Amino acid sequence: MKDQRKVDKTDRRSASSDSSSQPLGEFEFIKRIRVRADQKSRGLATGIGDDAAVLRPLAGKETVISADLLVENIDFQLNYTTPNLLGHKALAVSLSDIAAMGARPRWAMLSIGVPSSKWRSKFLDGFYEGFFELAANCGVALIGGDVSRTPDHIVIDSIVIGETERGRSVLRSGARAGDLIYVTGSLGGSAAGLKLLQSGRQVAESSLRSASAQSIENLLLRHLRPDARLGWGHFLGKQRLASAMIDISDGLSSDLMHICEESGVGATVEQAALPVDPAMSSYISDPSEQLPLMLNGGEDFELLFTVRPRNVQKLPANIGDVKIARIGRINRREDGVSILREDGLKTPLSPGGFKHFSERTGV
Ligand code: ADP
Ligand code: MG
Repeated sequence: MKDQRKVDKTDRRSASSDSSSQPLGEFEFIKRIRVRADQKSRGLATGIGDDAAVLRPLAGKETVISADLLVENIDFQLNYTTPNLLGHKALAVSLSDIAAMGARPRWAMLSIGVPSSKWRSKFLDGFYEGFFELAANCGVALIGGDVSRTPDHIVIDSIVIGETERGRSVLRSGARAGDLIYVTGSLGGSAAGLKLLQSGRQVAESSLRSASAQSIENLLLRHLRPDARLGWGHFLGKQRLASAMIDISDGLSSDLMHICEESGVGATVEQAALPVDPAMSSYISDPSEQLPLMLNGGEDFELLFTVRPRNVQKLPANIGDVKIARIGRINRREDGVSILREDGLKTPLSPGGFKHFSERTGV
């Protein structure tokens, strides 16, 4: 009886005034996606259109797979974003996990549940526009997915499959005392952007000219249109330069804790070395206000990685226009995880990043 829970499969067009070229039939919808998806990708034997996709793994490679669930009003707010930006972000968050494994992304599967009001609107057109634009830019082929109807809210399941040379996937568990800790790009911008959205700012449709308006726009886009650090991720994996790696999705403090727990080590981070998002600093100048956003804000989608001292000189200063910053050092587990503040005090760094379910309240 699965058809009943699915979107109406007939191919009638919507009578509603905001109807677009979006057909009502689910099969038509899949056909359209199939035409747009790149089905010629190397290693793809069968893409969209059968019961499952068929991949032919290459000798000497290993496959890396990651899934991300995006739930409306929990992981995103429709009134903050646009369908196009949401399509971009749905792919970008999973690309970031693949980058954090030191892998190169190759294929994607995207499943989406929408309420019928959204099925009848232009939402899906814009969503797939944003998704396919990013997929084309990073050489990822959409090889399957699913579509269903939900009672009221949008749910998106984004899966990306990548590959590395055999044995070169970078795990969270490889850090050792003495390794140096690095982060790509800058921190705090996404959380500052979210704050702005919560205070009522919106992404501009068009011409923003002044420098301050531009930095506000940059912050909003840091949150709404993240970039995965694919260049750095793949380079660090291929060259075996990262001993451990994670992407900053929950927040630096929480994600560093994941590396420390998995590796059985401690760490010290230096506040003065943290790369402040330049757009954030032009909007929030007080360092004590910046710090919690950089440590606990989350969704910066930068890479946090550790490097053995002998490999430090092999690191390039930048890849493309993305730099890295050395922010601390891995210690023995007994030394704990701490932050050396700008005033010289060393205090414990507790994981303060985003959690869906709090352990204390059970919510
Ligand atoms: P089934 O009922 O066997 O799951 P579907 O009609 O859902 O079959 O899917 C048929 C094909 O279309 C499959 O290859 C599936 O991966 C693909 N597909 C379905 N929905 C989507 C989607 N939202 N995006 C990409 N491919 C999709
Ligand atoms: Mg299906």
